[in-house]
Amino acid sequence: MMDAIVSTRPLDLVADFPAIPEGWAYLDTAATAQKPAQVIDAIAHAYSETYATVHRGVYQRSAEMTLAFEAARRRVGQFIGANAPEEVIFVRGATEGINLVAQSWGGAFLKPGDRIMLSVLEHHSNIVPWQLIAERAGAEIDVAPLTEDGRIDLDAMAGMLTDRHKLVALAHVSNVLGSVLDARRAAKLAHDAGALLLLDGCQAVPRMPIDVQALGCDFYVFSGHKLYGPTGIGVLWGRADLLDAMPPWQGGGAMIDKVSFSGTTFAPPPARFEAGTPHVVGVLGLHAAVDYVTGIGLDAIAAHEEALVREARSALSAMNSVRLLGPEDSAGIVSFAVEGVHPHDVGTILDESRVAIRAGHHCAQPLMEHLGLDATARASFGVYNGRKDVEALVRGIERVTRIFG
Ligand code: PMP
Repeated sequence: MMDAIVSTRPLDLVADFPAIPEGWAYLDTAATAQKPAQVIDAIAHAYSETYATVHRGVYQRSAEMTLAFEAARRRVGQFIGANAPEEVIFVRGATEGINLVAQSWGGAFLKPGDRIMLSVLEHHSNIVPWQLIAERAGAEIDVAPLTEDGRIDLDAMAGMLTDRHKLVALAHVSNVLGSVLDARRAAKLAHDAGALLLLDGCQAVPRMPIDVQALGCDFYVFSGHKLYGPTGIGVLWGRADLLDAMPPWQGGGAMIDKVSFSGTTFAPPPARFEAGTPHVVGVLGLHAAVDYVTGIGLDAIAAHEEALVREARSALSAMNSVRLLGPEDSAGIVSFAVEGVHPHDVGTILDESRVAIRAGHHCAQPLMEHLGLDATARASFGVYNGRKDVEALVRGIERVTRIFG
């Protein structure tokens, strides 16, 4: 019963976000989320009162900062259902997390003739790192097609997987279409073929509860800045046995056991993959962001965004000149095309009405090619959006169609 009550009450949280002025409809959360005061305060507090480096200092301030840093790792691990905090690697963002797996795991374990399965809708971050390592390792890439309504076609993928596939890497939620992957089924299909599953959780983590164990994946990546946290910090989660077997990918301080010119040995994970001084304050900001969204409840956030998507899709589908892309039940993201108007013009005219959307290829050029478009207009929602933002979007698009006749 509680769930039903929570899910029917709209969130009204815009007051938590000092960078969102009255009357501005910020609909670009899929690119990056605005920051609540709780996150900004945590960052300001760290720089103005508790700042020091971690892991190396012998003085009390550094020891305390180390405790706070490692508490954040535990909190993030708990948030995504990790078995142990050591499975959480702090990286710059999803892009770096995927590159880490490609270079470290791929560099060590991919052999000539091995295959990697991606999908048509992947972000460039989940394509190019695999191309780079495939080229080096002599491996090949296959691309799972999409269903008519823009989901990764797992039936088709099932027919394409072979025992040569060593890794499947898929977006948990598409950054363009908002389509949600059936991740458990993807995990089963990958594992039945003897492959690992990496999920790109950039757009899923801010929008739905995540439990990496329940999903059954092997690697999961996401970026802090899309989760209402700071830029420059993200997470790679990996199964402990996989991380243990992976070689370092960047060398430097903090990732070693012992360094000598006759041979260097390395620290166990997570330190093995965190060379150099980490983004200490970014990690604390991420902790505050995780606290912020869990305080709201990921189920409540999912229900809130679902309602906004439903409203937006219903209003836009009533407009003859608008082509809606992606499935009906897309998560927090609505891409569309306005007939005869370039998405950049749509974006510019909407901006004049104080509506901020994204227009472009969204770092998903293969998907654009599949859709037969150069670009799309994309509205994406966050916890601060409400019905009036959807109304502003719809009024703005009406204006676009009036201007372009
Ligand atoms: N994957 C997806 C699905 C994304 O939406 C993004 C960001 N647009 C990325 C990967 C890359 O994230 P970042 O730039 O934060 O590393």
